[in-house]
Amino acid sequence: MNLNELFNIKVGYDPSRLMNLLVRTAVISIVIVIVMSGYGFYRLFSGFVIKNAENNSVQLCNLLIDQQKKYLFVAAPGKALELGLHGTEMFAFDFSVRDYLYPFSIIKVKIYNAAKRIVYSTDPILIGQVDEKNQRLNNALAGKVDAKMVTKDKAVDLADEELRNVDVVETYVPILGPDKKVIGSFEIYINITGYREQIREGAIMMTSLLATVMIAAFGFSYLLIRGGAGQLKEAQIKLETMAATDVLTAIANRGHLLLRGEEEFERIRRNRLKSQRPEDMGCIMIDIDHFKKVNDACGHLAGDEVLKEVARRLSMSIRPYDVIGRYGGEEFVVMLPDTSVEQCLVVAARIRETVRAEAIEAEGNKLFITVSLGVTGSSETDTCLNDVLKRADAAMYQAKADGRDRAVQILG
Ligand code: GH3
Ligand code: MG
Ligand code: MG
Repeated sequence: MNLNELFNIKVGYDPSRLMNLLVRTAVISIVIVIVMSGYGFYRLFSGFVIKNAENNSVQLCNLLIDQQKKYLFVAAPGKALELGLHGTEMFAFDFSVRDYLYPFSIIKVKIYNAAKRIVYSTDPILIGQVDEKNQRLNNALAGKVDAKMVTKDKAVDLADEELRNVDVVETYVPILGPDKKVIGSFEIYINITGYREQIREGAIMMTSLLATVMIAAFGFSYLLIRGGAGQLKEAQIKLETMAATDVLTAIANRGHLLLRGEEEFERIRRNRLKSQRPEDMGCIMIDIDHFKKVNDACGHLAGDEVLKEVARRLSMSIRPYDVIGRYGGEEFVVMLPDTSVEQCLVVAARIRETVRAEAIEAEGNKLFITVSLGVTGSSETDTCLNDVLKRADAAMYQAKADGRDRAVQILG
């Protein structure tokens, strides 16, 4: 599938179609950019909040270790230093931890020893459990700080208050012994729900700003391009009209006349093949009588005036959907869709009358002009438009031979 099919338009070189394509492309691009940047800004801002929570967790843990090492580190004689809390120490430790962490939006704290056993938690049920398969704990025991944001349906804070739908940053912070060896890990849950709105609003604000800039830039370019496209369209229409029009008489020139005639001939031929109601097409060829005399007696400019006026009178004598054009120097052709030869003869008589009725004013001369007309209709045996035109031409010559100022018909 190519781009044109995707957008379901035939582009060509039509400026308005190109504008249409431009608008569709711009709207799709703006929507994609807005969605992607909205997501990007959300990730960026929440990334800042997570990083901030991670830094706070590390600092809190370090201070806590410093403050509580007398409870936390157990040094049995002849054995390596361990993490552990026993009996009454647990109670005292728990009391100081809660007291110390109370002002910071902490929901839960866990302390793991090197054997992945929970030696302390603000949630007492968890104490003693072993978390073997926790990859993030493994990372912490390998010395890496590891923070991640999760949204929890339910949580209980340090004051035993139940919270719903909370955003929590869980951070694992390695605990180092005096010899800098990792001997355990904290897991700290910081409630960042308070930043949720700020993250959302920040992302919305930045995205709206970007969207406004993009829409303004596109709108401005659109107006500029539309102005240019409008001029281009006008120029295109002018050129098309010029290419189809005879400069002197302002009716269709020979090329356009034949093109329209061929279209009409084809339409009739197709209808015949589909055996729909067979249609006739009438054709009248018109030649000005003794036109050379006008040029010789009154000059070429007077001849031009006569040609213009005859073309105007011919146009007046036909229906809007009949096709009229200048076929040659002082020869004209009228093609009449859906018209029988009999009806054509009526039109030819009207044309003859209209042309000869009043004198034509040309360069100060009053000239009485007559025309000879050849009339025919399309027939089933015609293979192309030329067959019809040849018959009309022969009929016109017959009219000349018969004395001019008349219409002669030849049936197809
Ligand atoms: P007939 O009755 O047999 O048609 O005689 P005619 O004098 O009209 O004969 P013909 O068709 O041979 O003459 C056509 C003349 O039309 C010849 C040419 O000089 C003149 N003509 C062709 N185009 C123009 C034009 O654009 N302007 C002017 N003024 N004359 C033209
Ligand atoms: Mg002629
Ligand atoms: Mg002539």
